[in-house]
Amino acid sequence: MNYLVTGGAGFIGSNYVRMLLSGQLGPVSSVLVLDKLTYAGTLTNLASLPSDSFEFIQGDICDSELTKKLVSRHNAVINFAAESHVDRSIEGSRDFVLTNVLGTQTLLEAARVGSIETFVQVSTDEVYGSIIEGSWPETHPLLPNSPYAASKASADLFARSYYKTHGLDIRITRCSNNYGPYQFPEKIIPFFVTNLIDGLKIPVYGNGANVRDWLHVDDHCRGIHAVLMHGRAGEIYNIGGGTELTNVELTRKILNLMGKNESSIEYVTDRLGHDIRYSVDITKISNELGYKPIVDWKQGLSDTVDWYQRNEGWWRPLKT
Ligand code: NAD
Repeated sequence: MNYLVTGGAGFIGSNYVRMLLSGQLGPVSSVLVLDKLTYAGTLTNLASLPSDSFEFIQGDICDSELTKKLVSRHNAVINFAAESHVDRSIEGSRDFVLTNVLGTQTLLEAARVGSIETFVQVSTDEVYGSIIEGSWPETHPLLPNSPYAASKASADLFARSYYKTHGLDIRITRCSNNYGPYQFPEKIIPFFVTNLIDGLKIPVYGNGANVRDWLHVDDHCRGIHAVLMHGRAGEIYNIGGGTELTNVELTRKILNLMGKNESSIEYVTDRLGHDIRYSVDITKISNELGYKPIVDWKQGLSDTVDWYQRNEGWWRPLKT
């Protein structure tokens, strides 16, 4: 199969590309990454990949001529390209609308014209809003609260419309919070770890009681691949880890792994519109595709902290 991976120089996309080209997800003919290389994308995430089956093109998913040209040579599009940081979307949401909504629509249109076989739209649990108890099934209404989540929800609706109107084989995945190596150091785990390496304080929003479900990036990528290979056209699949933690619990675990104490915590004014809790119900992907996360949370977090400690050369230039 020939894969077009958009946003493949970012955290999750580059992990997926490395997994694809290592052969652990099955046979691969070729992988082309299309990435704009915004502040969040870097070619160092794609270093040392086999040049006979891998190609990189710098470009924008909003570029309709380019996307039409690239799509025609591929069987599958996996769209990771996005503006992905909630805090940035609160400061200004224009780029989120451009890339996450218009960019996705542009890619969908290219996929339609180019008769792509399968299009996977990588989405997020944040489109559902916030939930005090229980977990969201895929049928839950979309009630996004941040501009980031609103832009991702809009993209999901465009993807669905291309299935309903044009019969394009689209599949949507909605995943919980990811962690692992190569995550841009503005996101909570690498931000805290790298601050602690530098002896800096770590800012916890509000009282730190917000709950997130954490999934190792490898498990997310396995879920996306299962949906691509064995999912059904037009369907939505939640992907989650089942490790729910408050932000304070997560912070304490990081402090513990790094031999630090709570004096490093600085409680700061809460994020605007901060969702209390996210929780996805993964019954559908488990029952239909036999999916379950396999990375042990404690080991995964420990390995991740260790990775940032050993790879200062990767994160320090990005953090400035
Ligand atoms: P990221 O910010 O690390 O990477 C995004 C990539 O997209 C970057 O390489 C960037 O250069 C590229 N990009 C941005 N705008 C582009 C454009 N217009 N054209 C081409 N490329 C562009 O994000 P991530 O954490 O790897 O997330 C990937 C996807 O997974 C996103 O769609 C995000 O919404 C979704 N997601 C992320 C998480 C998470 O915890 N990180 C959880 C669920 C879903």
